Amino acid sequence: MTTKSPKRASTPVPSHANGFVASRSAKADTSHHPGRTGIDLLHDPLYNKGTAFTYKERQKLGLLGLLPPRVSTLKAQATRVIANVRKRVTDLEKYVDMLSLLDRNETLYYRVVTDNIEEIMPLIYTPTVGKGCQLYAHLFRRSRGLFITKYEKGHIKEVLQNWPRKDVRVIVVTDGQRILGLGDLGASGMGIPVGKLALYTACGGIPPGQTLPITLDVGTNNPALLEDPLYLGLPEKRIEGKEYDDLVQEFVEAVQEVFPKALLQFEDFANHNAFRLLEKYRDEICTFNDDIQGTASVTLAGLYSAGRITKRKLTDEVILFHGAGEAAIGIGDLVVGAMMAEGLTKEQAKARCWFMDSKSLVDASRTDLQHHKLPYAHKHNHGPVPNLLAAVKAIKPTALIGVSGMAQQFTKEIIEEMARLNKRPLIFALSNPTSNAECSAEQAYSLSDGRAIFCSGSPFPTYVYKGQTFVPGQGNNAYIFPGVGLGVVAVGSKRVTDEMFAEAARALALLVTEEDLKQGALFPPLTKIREISARIAEAVAEVCYKRKLATVPRPKDLRKTILDMQYQPEYKEYV
Ligand code: NAD
Repeated sequence: MTTKSPKRASTPVPSHANGFVASRSAKADTSHHPGRTGIDLLHDPLYNKGTAFTYKERQKLGLLGLLPPRVSTLKAQATRVIANVRKRVTDLEKYVDMLSLLDRNETLYYRVVTDNIEEIMPLIYTPTVGKGCQLYAHLFRRSRGLFITKYEKGHIKEVLQNWPRKDVRVIVVTDGQRILGLGDLGASGMGIPVGKLALYTACGGIPPGQTLPITLDVGTNNPALLEDPLYLGLPEKRIEGKEYDDLVQEFVEAVQEVFPKALLQFEDFANHNAFRLLEKYRDEICTFNDDIQGTASVTLAGLYSAGRITKRKLTDEVILFHGAGEAAIGIGDLVVGAMMAEGLTKEQAKARCWFMDSKSLVDASRTDLQHHKLPYAHKHNHGPVPNLLAAVKAIKPTALIGVSGMAQQFTKEIIEEMARLNKRPLIFALSNPTSNAECSAEQAYSLSDGRAIFCSGSPFPTYVYKGQTFVPGQGNNAYIFPGVGLGVVAVGSKRVTDEMFAEAARALALLVTEEDLKQGALFPPLTKIREISARIAEAVAEVCYKRKLATVPRPKDLRKTILDMQYQPEYKEYV
């Protein structure tokens, strides 16, 4: 028996609205049959369209009766979702709402995220994702991603093969030991790979079916989690040393076998492992660490933009970092490379970068320095430098970059001293979340009499000082990693190199307009993020071709190829 379509259920035209990618074809594309029907189809978030299944699809795919009769458009569904999200009182409730949508209907999720990126990004990633991770086990509804523990040792390949999608191109992996600025959250850190990959798709255009979040659950040393009966990770202390390294090694090898085309991004590892693993694998596989290299790239872009305001060259800057961890050393290393590209020797470039850690100034008199700090342990004759104010007075930096995770370290005296030393001091308060920022935008502008060039890790509102409106830039890694990922995936790069991050920084800085700079904004608006990511991807792809790292032939029109590759959150017609 065939069922006749009732007249009122007209087939909606899917929305193709998009700012910068031409709609590929107006014809129905029926090459995307989901391969499942009925209730199974409604439960597959990658293919589910919910009430937007047309009557014809409902007939052919065994969906009749399983949905309310009226057919919605994607636009109408998105309107419903955003209205409901806005009705929620707390950001955490909004985070949970969006996560549930991701579990039901990915196309709709990405439609809502891309159409409202500035509003939604802080809800699905920092700062809200931090709370989401802290409460992961208590909020838990449905599993997402892969968990790998020491009990799978010898069988990690099989675990990877359990993942239902075979063409994985981007993996984000964490071991949960340093989740944002929140410390060891063990398996509850899974919110980070999930959230980060959502941004790869929403900002970069990596198809969601090609992404895979992974947590290496190597235990946790967080006593609160170990005692929590609801905690969902292994309630055991972390494995370390050889046992840890062997597990990571097997995991890396298994990824190469099961997902040979995948970019493997390490995320939120504690810094003793982050630096080591990056060094170990960066020349062997296609991998990078966003906490080190992505942060460096977005900050270098901020320095380039600031230079357009101050008319100083990068090589004119003397940078004092408050903090000497993943972010700080990553930025320092990339800045040194960029200064060398502008003519300095490595020694000259390093001499322009100074670091403070939790103990004191990183210098040659110290005998307690970790390996990653040693290149910056300069000799000097300033005598003891016990605190940041003393360091500012001794070193006379042009730029102060806060990446220690310690709130309010840029005191009134320090900002005033920076303003006394420099006509236009650079003050980057990058520690997250907002409550950990080294100073607020208001403090930076008002204590420097409006002369500071400021940016932060977490967003600060626009500030008006003496009649001038300042728009504080947010040095968000999301400007960089989605574009780098897209570029690497587009050309099948064999490696990810620092040169790619330097070029990504340059490409990002070029997209900052004179209008942005007039307001003190060092980055373009996030609303342009898909266009920004495509430009960064192009710059990264150029490096891949130049360095012979690409595995696919160079297309005639690289920019168009990249734009065409970007996933669009639009429904496909299945029948
Ligand atoms: P990390 O743990 O690797 O490094 C922290 C560093 O700060 C260490 O060197 C530590 O010795 C130092 N430190 C701690 N207390 C200090 C004190 N009182 N005085 C001076 N130094 C002190 O962490 P990380 O990955 O480098 O991240 C640091 C901060 O940077 C975090 O708040 C993180 O959110 C932020 N961050 C921001 C961005 C961004 O804005 N795009 C990106 C990455 C990290």
